[in-house]
Amino acid sequence: MTSIAAAQPRAIYQQTQYKGQEIGKLTGDVFYARMDDYVSVFMVTADGIVLVEPIGTEFATWLKGELASRFKVPVKFVIYSHHHWDHGSGAAVFADTARIIGHEAMLAHLAMPPATTPLPQNVRAQDTNGNGRIEQSEAQGALQAQFALYDQDRDGSLSGAEVTRGPLAFVRPPDLTYRDPITITLGGKRVEVLPKPTAHADDNTIVRFADGGGVLFASDWITVNRVPFGGDVATKPELDLVKSVEPLQFEYFVCSHGMLGKKADVASNIRYREELRDAVGKAIAAGQTVEQAQASVTMDAYKNWEFYAQQRPGNVAGTYRALKAGN
Ligand SMILES: [Zn+2]
Repeated sequence: MTSIAAAQPRAIYQQTQYKGQEIGKLTGDVFYARMDDYVSVFMVTADGIVLVEPIGTEFATWLKGELASRFKVPVKFVIYSHHHWDHGSGAAVFADTARIIGHEAMLAHLAMPPATTPLPQNVRAQDTNGNGRIEQSEAQGALQAQFALYDQDRDGSLSGAEVTRGPLAFVRPPDLTYRDPITITLGGKRVEVLPKPTAHADDNTIVRFADGGGVLFASDWITVNRVPFGGDVATKPELDLVKSVEPLQFEYFVCSHGMLGKKADVASNIRYREELRDAVGKAIAAGQTVEQAQASVTMDAYKNWEFYAQQRPGNVAGTYRALKAGN
């Protein structure tokens, strides 16, 4: 059997120009830890460490060793930003000393569907022996690359329920769930755990390290120097939700991907969305089709942002459809 760490090698994670594993200081007692494009944040106190996002088992295993040798205090809390496998895997590595916290909406994502759930239509062709399951030898594409992440019961074949649930085998359910904002106090320092359900994840959590440095962590959603992921990023309620973050008190901003940021990067992200909304609105008023809007709304001021080529057309199309629908 493959080891748990080997089941989630770094290579299956999103790859960009950001490479390597490192720990660095943000401010005061708050640090970031990077695995290639992925970034987590932690705060060190005399009573232990509060960590956001375990990312994965390989990273968590490496980080646990680094934290023990550098700081000599255990991780006491791990806070999930959302349930997605590439952010929420690996918390089990810290479970001997830490309580694991997630939004209550995580639980529905982690629950296994009924055993009678058939294989989803889009993967049925992989079931070449027709037994209603996908064996390791049959798996292709994402099911092949992430087989161990789907195979919750580790029996070497994927049921319809396992495929339907997704690659979440290494996302340990939270010990403690919350719905309304909570504040964790450790070593006399406060960490705010704030619910921000988004289109990307209805269990989305942001974390503000209120003491020991003003640091805000918001996974996947508010990007730094990077065009936002997804379609409709520029109308309500998404735009209002992003704007609700800006008044919080913080200096440093970490997105979970790519470049480290500051508060001004959140303002830039909001400005991108507002300019996109206005430009797409003008294209609609001029009678353009969605394809014409994708060609005309070039958002030139953001050409140097990462994922400009990949994400801008989808942002335009999603915003176009949302505005047409009256959002
Ligand atoms: Zn995500």
